[in-house]
Parts: sequence; C-alpha cells; structure tokens
Amino acid sequence: LYISCIPDSTNHLFAAPTIPPHFGSSDISSYELQTLELDGYLSFDNNHKAATDFGNRYNLYPLAVLHPKSVSDISNTINHIFSMGYASDLTVAARGHGHSIQGQAQAYNGVVINMESFQGLEMKINAGELPYVDVSAGELWINILHETLKQGLAPKSWTDYLHLTVGGTLSNAGISGQAFRHGPQISNVYQLEVVTGKGEVVACSENQNADLFHAVLGGLGQFGIITRARISLEKAPKMVKWIRVLYSDFSKFTRDQEHLISSNDQFDYIEGFVFINRTGLLNNWRSSFNPQEPLQASKFNSDGKVFYCLEIAKYFNPDELDFINKKVESLLTGLSYIPSTLFTSEVTYLAFLDRVHVSENKLRAKGLWEIPHPWLNLLIPRTQIHDFAQEVFGNILKDTSNGPIIIYPVNKSKWNNKTSLVTPEEEVFYLVAFLSSAVPSSIGTDGLEHILAQNQRILDYCIEYLPGVKQYLPHYSSQGEWRAHFGPKWQTVLQRKSKYDPLAILAPGQRIFQKGI
Ligand code: FAD
Repeated sequence: LYISCIPDSTNHLFAAPTIPPHFGSSDISSYELQTLELDGYLSFDNNHKAATDFGNRYNLYPLAVLHPKSVSDISNTINHIFSMGYASDLTVAARGHGHSIQGQAQAYNGVVINMESFQGLEMKINAGELPYVDVSAGELWINILHETLKQGLAPKSWTDYLHLTVGGTLSNAGISGQAFRHGPQISNVYQLEVVTGKGEVVACSENQNADLFHAVLGGLGQFGIITRARISLEKAPKMVKWIRVLYSDFSKFTRDQEHLISSNDQFDYIEGFVFINRTGLLNNWRSSFNPQEPLQASKFNSDGKVFYCLEIAKYFNPDELDFINKKVESLLTGLSYIPSTLFTSEVTYLAFLDRVHVSENKLRAKGLWEIPHPWLNLLIPRTQIHDFAQEVFGNILKDTSNGPIIIYPVNKSKWNNKTSLVTPEEEVFYLVAFLSSAVPSSIGTDGLEHILAQNQRILDYCIEYLPGVKQYLPHYSSQGEWRAHFGPKWQTVLQRKSKYDPLAILAPGQRIFQKGI
C-alpha cells in the first residue's frame, strides 16, 4: 500500500484553513494539465468558488478547476495525473454543490472537478414495473424531482434540502424523514458509473463490480468519482398532510418516535426537533410550515424549558382526503404529545420536499445564508439517546442553541452494511443534527468560537461516555481518529483505497489519506 495517512500532529495545511494557491512545483503541473485534450476546459484563474463551501470556514485554493463536458474529460485528467505517479503532487476533488462544512470538496493546489458542468444532461426515466431514473451525478435533487414528477414518479428517499447533487449525497448517505421506511438514499440506487483513482471508467451495481459499488456509496469520495446514477422511483403523491405536535417529556417523545418507525403502515415521514429557550416554536428557519392554527401556534414559547417537536407527514391524493383524515386521527390517538399542541398543514408534495429552500431565500435576503455554519451531525445508538439528551440538552446546551436541532430514529435494517458508511451497531439509532449558524461579528453565545467549543464538549462527552456514537458527515484530522471512526471497517477501507485509488489522488479534503510523494 503506497498511500500514507494524514499525520496525527497539526498539519500546516489544516491548521490555517485559508491558503491561496502557491506557484513553483505547480508550474510543472499546470503545464502538464494544459497538454490534456478535453471536450470541456480547465480554468486556472478566478477559482474562488472552488475554494469555498457552505461551512464558510475553509478556503483551500486549487491549482485548476476542470469543467468537464464528458466522462472522458474526467477519466483522462485522472489517468494523466495517475500516470505521473509521485512525480506530481496533484490531487483531485469532485465538487458537487459545495455544501460541505469543512472543505471536503476542496483540493489544495490540486484539481477540483466542477460536477455541475454535467447538469442538464438528459435524464432518462424508465416508468416500468420497477421505475428508475438515470441521471448525471452533478444533477441537483430538486431538478430530478421536477423532472420525475412530470411522469407522476419521484425518488423515495430524500434529504431535507434538495439543492445538493446526487454525487455529493451518495458519497455520504442522504438521510431524511423517509429513511426509516426506505433507508438512506444510498439504499435506493440500482447502478453507478464511476471513474476510479486510476482513471478507469467502471459500471457497477449489486451484481457487477459490487465491491466498487459498495465502496463509493457513503465512501466520502475516496474510491472513485460517481459520474452517473440509476435511482429507484415510486409513484408520487400529490399532497402531504404535515403535522407537528409538542412534548415536554423526552421519554414520551422518543417512545412515540420509535413506535412510529416500527411500522410502514403509519406515516410516510418522521422527524423531530429540540427547542431550547426559543420563541416562535412552530416556525423555525428550516421550514415553511404554516399551521392551520396560527393563533394557537404563536402562543407557544419554550420560556426557558426544553420542548421536543415530533414532525410527521402522510402522503395522499386529493380524492383520498376523507380516508386520510380518519387514518391520521386514529394514528394520532395512540400518541402521548401535549394535547393542545396539534398543528397541521396541507401542502403539495413538491412544496413539502422543497421546504428548506423557502427559508434559504428568506435568509439570503437578510445576508444570513453565506455565513459560517459549524454544524455537527451524530448517529446515536437507541440505548444511549437518553444519556445523550440529559447531558447535551440538559447541561451543555441548557440555555440556548444557535440553530435548529434535528432528532429522529431510523431502522438499521434498511441500511446496507457493505457500503463504506459507518453507523452504530444497534437496530435503531438516532440522527441528531446541530445546525448552528455563527452570525458574523457576534461574540458570546452566538459567536463561532463559542459554538465550536460547544460542539467539542458534545464530542468529548460522546468519546468518553457513549462509545457507540458515530459522526455523520464526519470530520477528523488525524489517522487515529479516522481509524476509530471506521472501527472494524478500517481494513476494508485500506484495501479498497489501495485497489481503486492507490496514489490517494481523490477527495483530499476529507483528510483521510495523503498522497505520498
Ligand atoms: P459537495 O460538498 O460538493 O461534496 C461532498 C463530498 O463528496 C466531497 O468530499 C466531494 O469531493 C465528494 N463528491 C461530490 N460529488 C462527488 C461525486 N460525483 N463522486 C464522488 N465524490 C463526490 N444531508 C443529509 O443526509 N440529510 C439532510 O437532510 C441534509 N440537509 C442538508 C441541508 C443543508 C442546507 C446542507 C448545506 C447540507 C445538508 N446535508 C444533508 C448534507 C449534504 O448531504 C452533504 O453535505 C452533501 O455532501 C452535499 O452535497 P454537495 O453536492 O454539495 O457535495
């Protein structure tokens, strides 16, 4: 194995996240790159976008950005870099929509591939018995939704926000309130086309090159660049009954959530939120939920207390409304929420799925979208969620949170253990997402340093007391931490890396491996 891991000590690249491109040895590299014959083109200047992401904290400038117009542009570029061996220190990162948090789609002094250049390539929908859509990996999920809805179809599993690329979410998992039923997005893919770290173009699926298929799903971009994907579809509903109810008792809240995810016959979507010391409880920035009971809803104020909000949805078509109302009423009867806190809304399926975008537009208008986002996402085993809640919501974050906190359970049986994704071992585990925003120039509890320190306290607590917890969208900077994260999968990761990307060219921004020059 020729690849080396990122050293444990502070690496100068990562200690100071803003680094402009340097010139010197890269002159040779840029000369080499310019000899490539491409359908698209390389840009060597004005590459600021490729050095930014949603996290707004890391800015590592590439040497060049490739705007591919064909898969062979990607394979030729990677093959060229591969064939130079260790004579070149060039690395390559695919950049989807750049909605990473810590520079994962950046490549310092390397080549960033702008996967969105592929957008708009024809999507092919097969509406047969097992419907699917073939898409380019640079396509945004929102565009896939629009296109498939034209044929009354839609993907089954989503993320809360749809302005992300297929390649970007499949490299992680793609989780939302449908995951309890359908598994994450990586459980809903039939086939992929991948360019490996040697520049080979390989088709893969459960039956063909299955190891590569599993490697790239949840693979953090380490084993290949996904160029096309075949995504499974289902019949799309027209409408969604969207419901929120509140709890003050965490045990009742999680008991109801776990009860609801135990059956496919109940709701189509199950999520939840934690509200700490907040007003406007029912309307947070992440969604456009407008309850039919606005007056009653506006009365709720957590007033120093912690509240838990169960968010559920039932899909329906207009001619089924009476039946659905009765069904929802009977499903709600068995739940233990605070009786006066039932809020409902009816929206189109499209409006429901694209709900976070409405809030994005509002925040953009106020200049509050492109600010630092020190997010932390964790997967927590069911048996540890109560200890976690007691310490984190009751102590570390007792007084305030700096953005929505999402919490919901999923069933591990819907996740494929052969993929590269790491999850807790238990049958049911929770996603807990701290989606903090750091308002620029704020200090104190709104400031970036304070939020980062809080995140670290949460992580330290988990490392010491809750060893089964795993990071989702993981971020580490040392070999020891990555090894611990992957646990028993680490050997498989090493084998796959040496097979598919032996020079460690791909996705350097994840900081798992370092090209060994
Ligand atoms: P990028 O940030 O561009 O890339 C992410 C990583 O994948 C990088 O390492 C990159 O090199 C690699 N990569 C990108 N494209 C490819 C490719 N084609 N082949 C191989 N590797 C590739 N996630 C959830 O699961 N559920 C949610 O509900 C959710 N909500 C979100 C809401 C918001 C507002 C944001 C900003 C993020 C959210 N995420 C959620 C996280 C999101 O799924 C990941 O950050 C995802 O990677 C973003 O996709 P992207 O296209 O921006 O990827």
